[in-house]
Amino acid sequence: MSDSEEREGPHAERPQDWAPATRLVRGGLARTPYGEIAEPIFLTQSFAYDSAEAADRRFSGEDPGFIYARYGNPTVKMFEDRLALLEGATGCRALASGMAAVNIALLGLLRAGDHLVASRALFGSCRWIVTQMLPRFGVESTVVDGTDLEAWRAAVRPNTKAFFLESPANPLLEIIDIPAVAEIAHATGAKLVVDNAFASPILQSPLQLGADMVVYSATKHIDGQGRVLGGAILGEDAALDEHYKELIRHTGPALSPFSAWVLLKGLETLELRVMRQSATAATLADKIAEHTAVDRIFYPARADHPQATIAARQMKAGGTIMAFDLGGRPKAFAFLNALQIVDISNNLADAKSLAVHPSTTTHRSTPEADRLAIGLTEGCVRLSVGLEDPVDLERDLMRALNAAGSAA
Ligand SMILES: *Cc1c(COP(=O)(O)O)cnc(C)c1O
Repeated sequence: MSDSEEREGPHAERPQDWAPATRLVRGGLARTPYGEIAEPIFLTQSFAYDSAEAADRRFSGEDPGFIYARYGNPTVKMFEDRLALLEGATGCRALASGMAAVNIALLGLLRAGDHLVASRALFGSCRWIVTQMLPRFGVESTVVDGTDLEAWRAAVRPNTKAFFLESPANPLLEIIDIPAVAEIAHATGAKLVVDNAFASPILQSPLQLGADMVVYSATKHIDGQGRVLGGAILGEDAALDEHYKELIRHTGPALSPFSAWVLLKGLETLELRVMRQSATAATLADKIAEHTAVDRIFYPARADHPQATIAARQMKAGGTIMAFDLGGRPKAFAFLNALQIVDISNNLADAKSLAVHPSTTTHRSTPEADRLAIGLTEGCVRLSVGLEDPVDLERDLMRALNAAGSAA
């Protein structure tokens, strides 16, 4: 029973007509008879039935209520409904982490004997699933330069069932032309799964760009305040049921109701945070690029980004994350060690600005040759811009860049 459903008639507000800011605060709200303003946390594993017949109806699917928290939970459902409304998707399945979402999204589409094509610039764990785990179960995979459309086309085989990409990619913000790759996937009957963690639902809508499924690490922008892990798969509700319903129910990657509640509250401020962090990042990227210690900067909204035109077409802004090459590990480490406000941390999209050396941390498990193929040298630093005052951040970053400049 959502608030809006109670008010029926010709003048009833329809959540689908709301702008994103309203969807983020009110979407999916399902109040109990107490009329609480904040969303309740239903910290319950299971549910009681009025009669044996009611339990029978619940299990048959005739009565759509909740059964067990591994299958669904009211707080988790509020999070799913709110995120689906924001994304413009008919379905959302919330999961325990971003990796649970990536794993389920791919496992549900693939069987032994199938083939997957993925872009090579992937988060380390995503890459492990594609190149190490899926082949163990008889799924072949080909990793391509995601910016090269001809490479996607050439990788297609008769048994290709899925395409997977990240855009912007972790850690060097490589941008992939989502509509063009969707067209190649669909021409061969494959489904396109897009990991949209870096852009967030505020800056990019992969489903509108032609993707079949979009996956999130809700740990990133959606929480965005360093608290809980979470993930989600969004797409057409019937397709999510077809590919993922049984897999999710029987393998157990359920999101905790408490974490779902934290993420619901995160959604309320998502647009404010992403727009502000992105504006600060754009200003800082220009200042960082001018510093003599910086050999190269990677930020999607800058004209010197290799895929700047595609980024401008499919993203509303450059985002909260950038990377830059300082020309060697000693300089990158000197930069990180001189920071006084920005933390050294492998997380990203947080209210607190965070910087990391990907080669020795997040992308440590990616073989060196593969790191170099995507331009990830030992001099690269990834910076996630938070909500601190831009002037304070600029001072901290310039001091650290000076330290990098004078390091051996
Ligand atoms: C962090 C991240 C993930 C994994 O998310 P978790 O919530 O940490 O499991 C997946 N994809 C991308 C692009 C990420 O940045």
